[in-house]
Amino acid sequence: MEQTFIMIKPDGVQRGLVGEIIKRFENKGFYLKGLKMVTVERSFAEKHYEDLAAKPFFPGLVDYIISGPVVAMVWEGKGVVLTGRKIIGATNPAESAPGTIRGDYAIVVGRNIIHGSDAVESARKEIALWFPEGIS
Ligand code: ATP
Ligand code: MG
Repeated sequence: MEQTFIMIKPDGVQRGLVGEIIKRFENKGFYLKGLKMVTVERSFAEKHYEDLAAKPFFPGLVDYIISGPVVAMVWEGKGVVLTGRKIIGATNPAESAPGTIRGDYAIVVGRNIIHGSDAVESARKEIALWFPEGIS
């Protein structure tokens, strides 16, 4: 069954949005398959976002991700990668539709609360990176 990697970023954790975010994925009918809270090293955050290494915002993005604990999760269900992205909303919260997580809880792209894999293949890579021990 299809799986995706979802990460609640440090601002989402600090603002107490963990329960709200989990609730939205559970209400939709997806299954939580793995979850851990972790504060990652700079090199690990750089690896996670390696495709964006050339972007001008990359150093700031890495600083943001390592600024506090994140909640790393694996969710499973039919179409969960694409539907998960819809639940999350557009990258820039100024453009995220109301009713999406970013649309409801975020204002700026540099503090957009949550990450979701953008394709089945990147989900596979990200799950392997974040859960090298595997999930049950
Ligand atoms: P994510 O990968 O975090 O789920 P995304 O797939 O919607 O987000 P990406 O293009 O992969 O968007 O960008 C990764 C992250 O980099 C964004 O979620 C955001 O935190 C940050 N980011 C993207 N564009 C900008 C920007 N112009 N300025 C600052 N930060 C940005
Ligand atoms: Mg992305």
